[in-house]
Amino acid sequence: MSAGFNQNEIVPDNYKLLISEDQIQKRLKELGKQIANDFKGQKPILIGVLNGGFIVLADLIRYISIDLEIDFIRISSYGDKRESSGHIKILKPLSADIKERSVIVVEDIVDTGLSVKFLQNMFSAFDPKVLRFATLLNKPARNKIDADIHYIGFDIEDKYVVGYGLDDQQLKRNLRSIYFIE
Ligand code: 5GP
Repeated sequence: MSAGFNQNEIVPDNYKLLISEDQIQKRLKELGKQIANDFKGQKPILIGVLNGGFIVLADLIRYISIDLEIDFIRISSYGDKRESSGHIKILKPLSADIKERSVIVVEDIVDTGLSVKFLQNMFSAFDPKVLRFATLLNKPARNKIDADIHYIGFDIEDKYVVGYGLDDQQLKRNLRSIYFIE
C-alpha cells in the first residue's frame, strides 16, 4: 500500500523510473533483517548522513527489530553541482558519543566514495567498537576509492538519480521512487 500523493504530479517528462517504491521497501526490509541479525544483543547507533540519507534512515530503522539509537551528521561536498568537488565540509557535527559503540553510517548513495572515506576516517578517530557503512545506492563505475561498505541496497549505473531523499537542485526529495534524468 502506498500512502501519499500521485508522484506523476511532480515527475517531469525527462525522468525515467529506475527503482520503484516497492522495490526500495523490499530491499530495505532485507537489509533491516540482516542488520538486526548482525547486531543482536547490541544497541547500535545508526547515523544518517544529511541531507539525502534522512528518508533511508527513517524507513530502514523500522525494519530493524532490535533496540537502536539514531543520530545525524550533515556534510557537504557538492553544493548545488552534480559533480563532487572532493572538498568536504561538516555542516552539522554528531551529537552522540560513539566511543566503544556499534555504529552504522547510513548513506543515500555512494558515488566517488570520497564522502564515505572522509566519514570512515573521522568516525574511526572516536574509537567505535564496530564501524560499518550502509548505502541504499552504489555506483561502482564511479567509485574512486575502495570504501568498505557492508550493506548495499542496489548497485546502479553511472547515472544521476533523484527521488527518495536524493535531490535535483534541492527539489524532488519527496518522490517515493528513484528516477534517472534522461
Ligand atoms: P561521493 O562522496 O560518494 O562522491 O558522493 C556522495 C554524495 O553525493 C551523496 O551523499 C549525494 O548527496 C551526492 N550524489 C552522488 N551521486 C548522486 C546522484 O546520482 N544523485 C543525487 N541527487 N546526489 C548524488
